[in-house]
Amino acid sequence: MFELPDKAIQVRNEVEAFFNARVLPNNKLWVDQARSGQSNPDIERQLRAEAKALGLWNMALPRLGDSEPGTKLSNLEFTGVAEVLGRLEWASRVFNCHAPDVPNMELLQLFATAQQREDWLNPLLEGEFGSSFAMTEPGVASSDPVNLETTIVRDGDEYVINGRKWFASNASHENTQLIILVGVTDATAKKSKRQSLILIPRHAEGVEVVRNLPVFEHESVTNLHPELTFTNVRVPVAYLLGEEGEGFAMGQARLGPARLHHCMRAIGECEVLISLMLKRSTERTTFGKRLDEYSSTSEAISLSRIELDQCRLLVQQAAHLIDTVGNKEARKKISMIKVAVDRVYQQIADRAVQLYGAKGVTNDTPAARAFGKARAFRIYDGPDEVHLQTIARLEASEQNLENLTHYLFD
Ligand SMILES: Cc1cc2nc3c(=O)[nH]c(=O)nc-3n(C[C@H](O)[C@H](O)[C@H](O)COP(=O)(O)OP(=O)(O)OC[C@H]3O[C@@H](n4cnc5c(N)ncnc54)[C@H](O)[C@@H]3O)c2cc1C
Repeated sequence: MFELPDKAIQVRNEVEAFFNARVLPNNKLWVDQARSGQSNPDIERQLRAEAKALGLWNMALPRLGDSEPGTKLSNLEFTGVAEVLGRLEWASRVFNCHAPDVPNMELLQLFATAQQREDWLNPLLEGEFGSSFAMTEPGVASSDPVNLETTIVRDGDEYVINGRKWFASNASHENTQLIILVGVTDATAKKSKRQSLILIPRHAEGVEVVRNLPVFEHESVTNLHPELTFTNVRVPVAYLLGEEGEGFAMGQARLGPARLHHCMRAIGECEVLISLMLKRSTERTTFGKRLDEYSSTSEAISLSRIELDQCRLLVQQAAHLIDTVGNKEARKKISMIKVAVDRVYQQIADRAVQLYGAKGVTNDTPAARAFGKARAFRIYDGPDEVHLQTIARLEASEQNLENLTHYLFD
């Protein structure tokens, strides 16, 4: 087990107290407001103001230095907080700890100029507007970023952007003012130096929303996944983030903690699903027995507990590594948690759907939504296969196979 300092435990306890007192009791109201079409449900805005006033705000930002904003929690220290936030899909937003704004803020913390920080980072930290990250393109296999075709071409004092993106989460949300776009600045450079990141005001001329995409038929008004076109979009050269050709490296820096946070939130959601399975199994009876008296039910709950606790330890280990040796050195563990957690998340959601019977496929419980989210999680932040490839490659590079001949007698 990883010991956390008192400060981290205190922050986690404060978040949990606020979650229990103010967020969870308002879940039904939030769902009603979102289902009635409010993309910024009133209750969410009210609770954001309350959480901010209490200082329970921006806790997901890493500890970069004393002059940096944020609560200065390490990644490991944040894991416990993220797990509480994961219990409800909208809770992270109450505390300004939600994706994609957090990974975007991290990018800006690391690479923005003073002017970019003033224009974009500070308002994001204050929660004044939202942001989006546009990498994936419908026309090419985007799990290999080398394939990306959107261009960023310098023309005097401006860059001109042309291309089509999709699944740029929340780019079409009414709060969103900033799109961080990945595009090609030099198609002839070596693979890792072709791309750059550029800051595009959401309402710049030439940025069009084609449509919002459903995820397994689920169309959320609060969490949108649009397809977008960029047609001769012009921005000043000062809107380039970092250096030309550094887009790939900066994108990687963004993804380590982002994956960690997704994993911890998923673990929090799985805890809710296990509790709901237990509750349901004591309330329903078939063939003269309560569901919890069947060994299949015990197995579903026990396996969920074993798998989830394994995942939590692995995630804590990955967080500790990111804190101590950095994203790059921790990349094998980051890939490991991504695959381990998304599969366990899907498995537990599947068991919860099954135990709830027909009710499990409705949206009267969180199980069906969790199942769809878990399935999508096996694709976004890198499909499982890509992570498995990374793990195998790093495993091979770390192993010394020379002494193995002593185990063999052929
Ligand atoms: C809910 C959701 C939110 C998202 N949010 C964002 C966002 O905010 N911004 C953004 O830019 N993108 C986002 N995405 C897109 C996501 O990052 C991409 O879908 C992902 O990177 C895969 O790219 P692709 O869809 O082009 O799949 P492809 O690259 O076409 O891959 C398709 C399949 O090919 C197989 N495959 C790929 N590589 C390998 C390999 N090496 N070995 C074996 N098999 C392989 C895998 O089965 C993979 O699923 C989101 C996606 C979803 C579903």
